[in-house]
Amino acid sequence: MKITVAKTAGFCMGVRRAVELALDASNRTNEPICTYGPLIHNPQVLNILEEKGISVIKEIPENGSGTVLIRAHGVPPEDREKLRNAGFNVIDATCPKVIKVQSIIARHSRQGYAVIIVGDRAHPEVIGLLGYAGGNGHVAENMDALHALPEFEKAIIVAQTTQNKTFFEEVTEWAEAYYPNYQVFNTICDSTESRQTDVKNLAEKVDAVVVVGGYESGNTKRLFDIARDAGKTAVHIETEAELDVSQLGNPSHIAITAGASTPNWIIKRVYRELENRMMYNKRCFRRWRFFIHRNLLLSNIYLAAGAGCLTYAASMLQGVDPALSSILMAVLYLLCMHTFNNLIDITSDRYNDPDRANFYQQNKNFLSALTGLFGLGGLLTAYMMGPLFLLLLLCMSFMGIVYTISLKPQGIAGGLKPKIRDIPGSKTVLVALAWGIVTTIVPALDGFGQVRLITALVFLWTVSLVFVRTAFFDILDMQGSRIVGKETIPILLGEKKTMGLLKNLAAIMMVALCIASAIGVVSTLGYLLCICPLAMLMFLSAYEHGGIPSGLRQGFLMESHFILAGLLAGLWALI
Ligand code: SF4
Repeated sequence: MKITVAKTAGFCMGVRRAVELALDASNRTNEPICTYGPLIHNPQVLNILEEKGISVIKEIPENGSGTVLIRAHGVPPEDREKLRNAGFNVIDATCPKVIKVQSIIARHSRQGYAVIIVGDRAHPEVIGLLGYAGGNGHVAENMDALHALPEFEKAIIVAQTTQNKTFFEEVTEWAEAYYPNYQVFNTICDSTESRQTDVKNLAEKVDAVVVVGGYESGNTKRLFDIARDAGKTAVHIETEAELDVSQLGNPSHIAITAGASTPNWIIKRVYRELENRMMYNKRCFRRWRFFIHRNLLLSNIYLAAGAGCLTYAASMLQGVDPALSSILMAVLYLLCMHTFNNLIDITSDRYNDPDRANFYQQNKNFLSALTGLFGLGGLLTAYMMGPLFLLLLLCMSFMGIVYTISLKPQGIAGGLKPKIRDIPGSKTVLVALAWGIVTTIVPALDGFGQVRLITALVFLWTVSLVFVRTAFFDILDMQGSRIVGKETIPILLGEKKTMGLLKNLAAIMMVALCIASAIGVVSTLGYLLCICPLAMLMFLSAYEHGGIPSGLRQGFLMESHFILAGLLAGLWALI
């Protein structure tokens, strides 16, 4: 069974921007924050905003304090003024595409044009647009309403940004036929258009479509109608809890799409739920394969195997005989570190990876005990390797603890409690460095008794691979990180720039290793290990173009790059 998530599913640019502005504001200030009207039409997002202390005001009070957000739909100009006069610090989250329509209306109304808005009279965006028409604005919800309007000497016609494309084409033809002096502006947002085209095309290829989004969301309802009109089984749900797979029949290919106000984490939850439930209907072998993949990933066993493989490859690359003790130390230490991180990240995982959050919540005590055992096992291995290794691992473990606790001594009241983990991007960098130390520096110290120049090059290679892997997962987790106030590298730089950075880093590592092999700094194994950053580069490009399936396989593929390094090094040793 195949599940395809529509490329356009989830937040549109305007909604994403509004939600990010709200969450960023709440993460940066302790002042009261509110939105003027509900920020978007999605009850789950609104609940989270409420939990973050972001309230909703429906009327503008005479006196206000703190920050108020104007939602993506925009407001009439006089409302913005009233909010400022009430004493609010105003953050304008009006979508730039709505601002463009507001500007068209304002400019023409100043020149004496009447304004005809084709849209839903009660919709907040239309109410906001009317405010720019200088008292000469008219709303038409259908053709009858258009026919009923008086004739204007000069007028413009604009559309609500989420207007039905076919209806607006009819309006344009009507204006050209009867009122050629009217100017028509097609202001329908391209995000709405491409979302509808996407679901239409997908519905032709699949057996069933699951549409995810608020029941009050007009654009989500339209997606459901399009899927159903295409003659396919379609269901509209708000969350994974409402998923009834029996309604989908016995599909071999299912599409998931979502409205413009549906967050990623809800789409992910629906995907995981669908994947889990459909797998139970599969033949024994496939069900077992899925079960094993899932548990290897969730328990970090697959990641730990990757750590062992990377240590083996890094040892060989720097010309050290791979020692079982170094590999064991890397495996146990990284297993302990990642399981510990998963245990303390359950809150953000509820949004980023609900399956992982459930797994860690349900097995919290058992996994905590295992973390301790892995840690002790790592320390014991280091002790047997020598005092230097024990000291190194103790320092790293100490740094790991300092990383998560408050730096402010107990007893000092008030204010924020800073932690190293609050430093933007610190987790990604420190995880990569920790991997570099145990997979590269430890084998060098164990084999050579010192760190050589070649170790520095191999260290850069391992750190870069782990950095790319960790920052990629940070990209997938951006919405959840924002909710819990984590400042990761993609949140600082944005998704596009981070993706560019990761691709460049992988490319640089590939070229550097090739050159190092060519000039004899590293052995010919360097040529073979170039395949790892190349595979990462291809993975990232495929992800950008929607070529990597979501869910379990995505994580599994990314973690497989380290296993690949070990296999290539093993192959080279054999040859
Ligand atoms: S649908 Fe288009 S106009 Fe409306 S908020 Fe999203 S991007 Fe902006």
